[in-house]
Amino acid sequence: MVGECKVGRMIDIQILERSDSEITLILKGVPLEYANAIRRAVLEEVPTMAIDYVVFYDNTSALSDEIISHRLSVLPLKSDTAIEHYREPEECRSSPSPSGCYTSLYLEAETAQQEELVVYSGDLKPQEDPEIVPVYRDIPIMKLGPQQRVVLEAWARLGRGREHIKWSPATVSVLTYIPTITISLDKCNMCKLCVENCPTKAIDIRNSEIQVNESKCILCRQCVKVCGAEAIELGWREDEYKLHVESSGALRPERVVLEAMIQVKKKLMNFYEEFERVLSSSGVKL
Ligand code: SF4
Ligand code: SF4
Repeated sequence: MVGECKVGRMIDIQILERSDSEITLILKGVPLEYANAIRRAVLEEVPTMAIDYVVFYDNTSALSDEIISHRLSVLPLKSDTAIEHYREPEECRSSPSPSGCYTSLYLEAETAQQEELVVYSGDLKPQEDPEIVPVYRDIPIMKLGPQQRVVLEAWARLGRGREHIKWSPATVSVLTYIPTITISLDKCNMCKLCVENCPTKAIDIRNSEIQVNESKCILCRQCVKVCGAEAIELGWREDEYKLHVESSGALRPERVVLEAMIQVKKKLMNFYEEFERVLSSSGVKL
């Protein structure tokens, strides 16, 4: 898709790969600093729900309350509707928090005399909001031995990755150059050292022909180091980057990227408004 950027460049965004959990975009005409701001906002700024405190009513398991709380806190929770329905993280940090911040999930599990039981994330039951549930139902939280019991209430709220990584909607967010590989056939003696040393199989020799797959290249320069004939020239495309985002499952990967853009825009608007206020209170006429 091509559009005109306000800074005067043509923007072209292509979806290279997309699945339920990952998205890879090719960004052309997007300034590096903008693309990097989006990459960082993906990890640190997009709000998601995560368990923030736990009330234990009973715990006779082998694990302490603290360890169980920690395990609960890092479970990704579905957050698609939460961004619209819950208060911003910054509004919820005061004590007591205002209404509209938290929702709770209830867990109760017990074993008989000869029984053992693994308690899974899917055993957490939402009490008020059926939309806020663990993304994955099969993550083990703890194992109960015979005649053990745990009863707890876990309270979740919106937060951001910069406060704690448990709130980050992405497990991976990377921005990379798009490599170019040029092999000078005049210099190449088909020794195959580059093929043997390339960790990603981006270079191959078949039927005495060198084949390159630039999309596999990670610019590690191993091929250049081993090529005694100095036949390989590595570079990268100007003004073109690859953004790869892997979601924790809390939000769909494309939503993570869109929300990151919204967060960057909000920050710039806050900056703009504050600067405008400072200018106006200083008597500077615009
Ligand atoms: S290492 Fe250099 S000379 Fe050997 S096959 Fe590769 S490009 Fe050709
Ligand atoms: S730079 Fe690394 S990944 Fe790319 S072709 Fe050379 S050895 Fe392979």
